[in-house]
Amino acid sequence: MAHVESAHLVELALRNATPTDADAEALRHVDRCARCRDELRMLTRVVAAARTAHLVDLPTAPPERVWQHISRDVSDTPDTPRPPAPAPAPGKRVLLALLALAAAAGIAVALRYLHERSGLVRRGVVR
Ligand SMILES: [Zn+2]
Repeated sequence: MAHVESAHLVELALRNATPTDADAEALRHVDRCARCRDELRMLTRVVAAARTAHLVDLPTAPPERVWQHISRDVSDTPDTPRPPAPAPAPGKRVLLALLALAAAAGIAVALRYLHERSGLVRRGVVR
């Protein structure tokens, strides 16, 4: 069997759908194939991290008084630096976390594609 397609590995990592016969076949392949096993393990970690992320895990701006104190201590100039932009609203943070997950999955798919393509080029199948 050929390697499991990256999109299928993402679906397996998400575990959102009822397992199918194709999933069972893919998982049998994953058991025997180190490359697919490593990719599924990485994708599963990304999914788990995204699902267990809490709002406190996401970057937020310090309270205004903390920023003023830091600015006063480190600044040589009389002008007080502007504080950082306010943190996004909680709904936007969740959206950002989901976008980060989608970006990670996209990167994994792109890396898999490049890896497969480099193998095909090495074997002379594709130029
Ligand atoms: Zn494989």
